[in-house]
Amino acid sequence: MSGDSKKTIIGSGLTGPLLAIMLANRGYTVDLYEKRADLRKADISAGRSINLALSHRGIHALKSANVFNEIEPLLIPMKGRMVHLPDGNTDFQPYSINSHEYINSVSRGELNKILMTVAEKTGNVNIHFKHTLSKAESGVLVFENGKRIEAEGEVFGADGAGSVVRQYIDSNSDKPSKSEPLGHAYKELSISADAAGEFKLEPNALHIWPRGQFMLIALPNTDKSFTCTLFMPIEGENSFTTLVNADDVSCFFNEYFADALPLLDDFPWTYFDNPTGKLATIYAERWHYENFCLIGDAAHAVVPFFGQGMNASFEDCEVLLGCIDECNRNWQAIFSAFNEKRKPDTDAIAKMAIENYIEMRDLVAQPEYLARKKIANQLYRKFPNQFIPRYNMVSFSSIPYAEVYRRGMVQKEIISNLNSENLDFPLAESLISEQLEPVN
Ligand code: FAD
Repeated sequence: MSGDSKKTIIGSGLTGPLLAIMLANRGYTVDLYEKRADLRKADISAGRSINLALSHRGIHALKSANVFNEIEPLLIPMKGRMVHLPDGNTDFQPYSINSHEYINSVSRGELNKILMTVAEKTGNVNIHFKHTLSKAESGVLVFENGKRIEAEGEVFGADGAGSVVRQYIDSNSDKPSKSEPLGHAYKELSISADAAGEFKLEPNALHIWPRGQFMLIALPNTDKSFTCTLFMPIEGENSFTTLVNADDVSCFFNEYFADALPLLDDFPWTYFDNPTGKLATIYAERWHYENFCLIGDAAHAVVPFFGQGMNASFEDCEVLLGCIDECNRNWQAIFSAFNEKRKPDTDAIAKMAIENYIEMRDLVAQPEYLARKKIANQLYRKFPNQFIPRYNMVSFSSIPYAEVYRRGMVQKEIISNLNSENLDFPLAESLISEQLEPVN
């Protein structure tokens, strides 16, 4: 096998194994190095949030790698947001007017296991567990276990937000990457199945308790439990800094999440047992140097409020494969094309993810938001190829994120000219035909 046929990937999280499958399907042989032990053998967590929302972009990439059939049985459709209001009432807000447009809850660990197994089954991928990359330098990979490997061919950094590969690229760039903290953090909690083994909440929804500056969410799991995540400022009046003891935490939940409180497992002790996760956006200008190239969170970690980090990372793999086709195995040209093509899109989803935090934790409970949503849905029904609500473009289409952002701004302006109680369709039609070209 020639050097050109060999590729190395650092990180066997979500992006690494999917990229390995796609490269293997093209005939490349791949060595994949992962710092953790093999989670299919050891009883270890796959890290961070234990379930994720998978939507169109991720599904499209999984289908193009021929792995979606194995993943589909693990999915729980979430057809809309179940908003839990402070007075205890709930308001179900469907994600779309079309019944086939919904997002799916999937276990991070199970997804990771399937991707690794499929990668190995190609016969072209070799996964080396317990290999933590400590340093990358010109063509050489140095691991914490003392191994030094001369990488033949290209090396992909799929080693997540804290990427060591990115550090090497940064050290050779006059515009190193930046990590911008959100100032908010998260804590996972859980709701197990009831005594009869059934879900304690509606399973086909993403539950949200929006409370202005903070929120609780819950996503269903196939064992009929829910994984809940509390997102809250790190400092300030109601924050991770001020909730210090069991009384503080119980009082806080009793005041803001009274209907969720009796459902939470082993509360408030889980609050103290589980780690507090920090949230940040990574902005990297340069994704490649020499034979190294970043992909997934290593290149562009985003905050999780649009449920797009993994979806965008999976879509990266498809975009990269497209660049391989276009640039005919000239790897410097492939890396440049990938960086250039993808960066405006990942910047756009980074921005939309931050904006969506405010939507989820606050706006979904506001009448003005509901009025704007009503107009958007009426326009979507009437002009389905032109006016597509931004959430739908992000979650249920492959329209590039930067184009979604642009169209979203135009649509916001159009909505501001219309009245939800008495929608002026002729005016809407003229504004739409002037400013929004049909999609497809
Ligand atoms: P990672 O999943 O971080 O994988 C990196 C891998 O590299 C890991 O296996 C790690 O062990 C390994 N590694 C790291 N350093 C080294 C090293 N030095 N040497 C060797 N191996 C190394 N996205 C969605 O699409 N939908 C969601 O609903 C969603 N929810 C989220 C909720 C939360 C709370 C968070 C924090 C994120 C969420 N995301 C979601 C984002 C998603 O988790 C990431 O975008 C996705 O995991 C990126 O995959 P990755 O493989 O690039 O990085």
